[in-house]
Amino acid sequence: MRVRFWGTRGSIATPGPGTIRFGGNTSCVEVTTNGGACFILDCGTGARALGAALLANGSGPLSVTILLSHTHWDHIQGFPFFTPLFVPGNRITVCGPEGCARSLREVLSGQMEFTYFPVEIGQLPASITFKELGEGTHEMSGARILAQFLHHPAMTLGYRIEADGASVAYLCDHEPFAETLSHERAVRGHDEPMVHEGDRRHARFMEGAGLVIHDAQYTPDEYPSKRNWGHSTYEYAVDLAGAAGVRELLLTHHDPAHDDDFVEEIERHARGYAKRRGYRVQVSCAYEGLDLTVDPHGVEHLPAAPLTPHSDREALRGMRILVVDDDPDIRALARLALTQDGHSVSEASSGREALALIDAEVPDLLVLDLLMPAQGGLEVLGILRSMTATAALPVVVLTAMDDKVNTRAGFEAGAIDYVTKPFTIPQLAARVRACLTRSMVHSGALGA
Ligand SMILES: [Zn+2]
Ligand SMILES: [Zn+2]
Repeated sequence: MRVRFWGTRGSIATPGPGTIRFGGNTSCVEVTTNGGACFILDCGTGARALGAALLANGSGPLSVTILLSHTHWDHIQGFPFFTPLFVPGNRITVCGPEGCARSLREVLSGQMEFTYFPVEIGQLPASITFKELGEGTHEMSGARILAQFLHHPAMTLGYRIEADGASVAYLCDHEPFAETLSHERAVRGHDEPMVHEGDRRHARFMEGAGLVIHDAQYTPDEYPSKRNWGHSTYEYAVDLAGAAGVRELLLTHHDPAHDDDFVEEIERHARGYAKRRGYRVQVSCAYEGLDLTVDPHGVEHLPAAPLTPHSDREALRGMRILVVDDDPDIRALARLALTQDGHSVSEASSGREALALIDAEVPDLLVLDLLMPAQGGLEVLGILRSMTATAALPVVVLTAMDDKVNTRAGFEAGAIDYVTKPFTIPQLAARVRACLTRSMVHSGALGA
C-alpha cells in the first residue's frame, strides 16, 4: 500500500512561514492499494490538492472511497473543493460514522448551503454514494476496512485498512479513555498496564499494524488543560503503539499553535520516550507531502468484528435511559446530553431509588454514579448483575474516581464504559451512543 499525506494539521488550516515543514492543511491522507483502490482518510483542506492530483494523473472515470473519521470542520472543509466531485462519471463513496443526530449527507450538505458555498451538494455532477458505518469489518474495493469508535466529543471512527498483506490504522481524533496509564511499561500481548477497557480496545485495534497514524495534538504538559477536547499526547500514542507491536508510528493532527520547531521537538521527545520505554516502534511526526510504502509485514488479520447495519441512526434514538447521581447538576447535564439525542431520560438520586425504578421497568441503559451516600454505584451494579432481568443491562459508570483501582473495579463489576467527571455534553452523548450501538449488536437487537 502507498500512503501519502495531504494534510497533517488539526483544528484549523495554519499556513504561513512557521508551518512550511510539517504543513498547514488539515487532515487528509491518501491510501492506495496495489490493486489501484483509492481510499481517502478525511477530507480536510488537504483534499483540494489531492483532488487536483487525482484528476491530473488519472485517465477515465475515477472511483474513490472517502473514509471520514467524523464531521468536525478540519475533517470536511476540503470536501467542497475536491474537484473529482465536479466531473460527471466519477464515482465517489463517502463513508462516515453512524449514530450522529443527522445523516452524513445532511451534515455535508450543511456546509454547502448557498449561504456558505456557491454549489449545493445536489448539483455535484459525480455519482456520490453515502454510507454510514458502524464498528466492525467492511469489505470495500478488495480491501478490508475495520472501523472502531474513538474517544472524541463527537461520533468518531478510527479505521484500519488491510490490503496487500499490510495494514494501516488511522486514529484521529482521539484522547485517552483513562487519564493515565499505569507506569508499568506495556508489553505486547499484555494489556495489563491499561486500566480502561476503552484503551485496551484501542491498542488491540492497532495490534501488529505496519503503520499507525495517530493523533498527538498536545504535549504531556499541555494535556491537563485540554482534557475532554478529544486529543492525545505523543506519550499515549507511543505507549499504545509500543504495546500493540506496531512497526511504524506517525504522529499527526499537529496543533495550530505548534510551529515547525515545536513539532520537531515533539518528534525528538517522542523518539526518546519510545527508546526509554524499550519499544521497537519507529516514531516520526507526519508532514504534508510525506509519501511512503507500507510493505507486507506478515501480520495476521484482526478477527472480523460484528457489523452494525445502516439503520442505526433511527434505531438508536428514543432509548429509555436512567441517570443515577446524587448531584442534581450532574443529572441535569446528563439529561441535556441524552434528550438531545432523542432519548427519554428518567432520574434517580440514590441507589435505592434507582433499584426501585428498575424493578418497575428495566431501562435500555443505565448511567450510574459510583460515589453516592448510603449505597455506592458498585454495590448497585453488583445487585443488578445478580438478577436475571438486569444481568445484561448496559451500565455506563460516571465518576470522579478515575484512579487505577476504582477503574478496574468498575469494569470488573460489569460496567461497559467508565466516564470520568467532569465530562462535556457532546462527550457523554458520544460515549452513550457508542455503548448503545455495541450493546444492541451484541444482544442481537439490530439483527446483526
Ligand atoms: Zn480534528
Ligand atoms: Zn474533531
